[in-house]
Amino acid sequence: MRINRSIRVGIGVMALAVVASACGGGEEKSASQSASEGKLTVGIKYDQPGLGLRNPDGSFSGFDVEVAEYIAGKLGVAPENIVFKESPSAQRETLIQNGEVDYIVATYSITDARKEKVDFAGPYFIAGQSLLVKSDNTDITGPESLNGGKKLCSVTGSTPAQKVKDQYAKDVQLQEFDTYSACVEALRNGAVDAVTTDDIILAGYAAQYPGELKVVGAPFTEERYGVGLAKGDDETRAKINDAIEAMIADGSWARAFNETVGASGYPIPAPPTVDRY
Ligand code: GLU
Repeated sequence: MRINRSIRVGIGVMALAVVASACGGGEEKSASQSASEGKLTVGIKYDQPGLGLRNPDGSFSGFDVEVAEYIAGKLGVAPENIVFKESPSAQRETLIQNGEVDYIVATYSITDARKEKVDFAGPYFIAGQSLLVKSDNTDITGPESLNGGKKLCSVTGSTPAQKVKDQYAKDVQLQEFDTYSACVEALRNGAVDAVTTDDIILAGYAAQYPGELKVVGAPFTEERYGVGLAKGDDETRAKINDAIEAMIADGSWARAFNETVGASGYPIPAPPTVDRY
């Protein structure tokens, strides 16, 4: 009786383990495979107006959301069958590597360091690092003017934070948060003097607080936004590259941009050329 019971418990535990692994907890599965099963989990930002935003009613909006949905459509998945997952800057590689998302469209710059862990389709957009300050600020005009111990906020695991650490850290007090919206709050309440990240992201916040915040200085890096996906999933990468090219060619890219980022006044640039590395 005793033995029977422990065998039953053992089988139960084994069954649970099988179910858990079949549910994708850390399992390697290609995004194309998920799409063929009719569902996709896509990583986006939740707090970047114009790019990736979770609205109070639970819906999602922004250029990255539009790009994510267009790609899903080309992979055969309707928007209602996409599950969006918040993907903060520092967690993106891990989310992909653990199979928690099928792909990420989240102002995600293509870099060699990241390419060691994940692959990228795209670029689908090119931005540049800039600075956000209070509208009445006159002494911060570019990265050099941060010298002298200015308090600068950026996000952990982002390329702008890395750039500041590499080039300006000596004279700047860098404060790192998990999200840019937290940096913007710190700027608004005077805890930091400036926020740095890509100009297109900063333009969205400046538009959210007109007359209170402004973007200053010329962009001082090139940020090539890619769609992050599992390393080695060349089949899906090629399909996503096709989708980006189609989105640009059929006018959807420009329309999506104008309907999302357009409101911030950020001018529409020429679309980039996809890099099929
Ligand atoms: N594009 C930069 C990056 O990928 C900054 C924006 C972000 O953190 O999402 O790190």
